[in-house]
Amino acid sequence: MRLTDAVVTTASIRSPIRNAVVGFDEMTVSVVALITDHVRNGERLTGYGFTSNGRYAVTGPLKERFVPRLLHAEPDELLASDGSNFDPERAWQVMMRAEKPGGHGDRAHAVGVLDMALWDLVAKVEGRPLYRVLADRYRGGTADERVFVYAAGGYYAPGKDVAALQDECQSYIDMGFTTVKMKIGGEPLPVDLRRIEGVLAILDRPDQLAVDANARYGREEAREVAAALQPYGLRWYEEPVDPLDYHGLSAVAAEYEGALATGENLFSARDVENLLRFGGLRPDRDILQFDLALSYGVVEYVRILAVLDELGWDRRRCIPHGGHQAAIHAAAGLGLGGNEIYPGVFEPFGLLPDESAVVDGYVRPTEAPGIGFEQIDQLYAVLREAAHS
Ligand code: MG
Repeated sequence: MRLTDAVVTTASIRSPIRNAVVGFDEMTVSVVALITDHVRNGERLTGYGFTSNGRYAVTGPLKERFVPRLLHAEPDELLASDGSNFDPERAWQVMMRAEKPGGHGDRAHAVGVLDMALWDLVAKVEGRPLYRVLADRYRGGTADERVFVYAAGGYYAPGKDVAALQDECQSYIDMGFTTVKMKIGGEPLPVDLRRIEGVLAILDRPDQLAVDANARYGREEAREVAAALQPYGLRWYEEPVDPLDYHGLSAVAAEYEGALATGENLFSARDVENLLRFGGLRPDRDILQFDLALSYGVVEYVRILAVLDELGWDRRRCIPHGGHQAAIHAAAGLGLGGNEIYPGVFEPFGLLPDESAVVDGYVRPTEAPGIGFEQIDQLYAVLREAAHS
């Protein structure tokens, strides 16, 4: 069994929405298809992956470094020792040849998308859903049957008033979500507080609402906002300061009694260790949002979980950013605390399979072999077209 070809394409997920820091009018993702010589049902077995939203396609690193390393590797360098299947951990070593330590930027997304496609292949070769494969490999066979999900939305958009924001959040509740998230930091604080109060008015409890500042605030402003948010009792306050400002984050954590959330812009186990050692976060309440598609894939995510274990953090504190199917399998297989979903945004990449309807704030992972992209018609059409381009 060997890889015969890899196709790399770019897909647009442009949208008029904005968070406090960036718009999405130029947003793209990389799509990859890893094609093998293994024929099943008359077709070459193909693994698919795509990068997560928010940080753009990584065509250069994929085409110039990581895909050539995979395709030029000796076939057995990518396989498990008995040769029966691909081994993403060994493939990871091949991809990271000639890469210096540190500096985890776009290349973490390039390796992450290839890791996703490799795991799709591994699970397809086994003929099992990825979450079961991950549970057997990393969690003694224990898999969660369902995964907590929350609806991430509440973006700024031209002409969008509080009533429109309320309608949007109500639509998520009507879909079966119990928790919603909205953006803050894109308007002056009094305006954002009116937006928050508008959404709280349609919810039963304040801990059904999380807010995301997308690292918009400086240190002092982040603390002022924390003081203003405190009385509401929200589910969490996300990325108050720059993702690498552990000193600033610890100052917020020292004063804010509610939960903080961060981590979507950290891409390695070492970065996570620094966050947990120096960011002032509290293992009994705070939420960690590392996105495996952005941070070197499942292989690095398992190293991240080892850091959590070492530092006394429960992996249920992890609710990854990204809203992709691979993260739902990772959550169910590795025992994470849930996953983010963007209903109606970033389609078709954020779509759920029909069989994964949201019920009481939870979804079930697909039982199809692999990650189950084939169960999502609109998404699979894009992936299949990419594979044949
Ligand atoms: Mg966020």
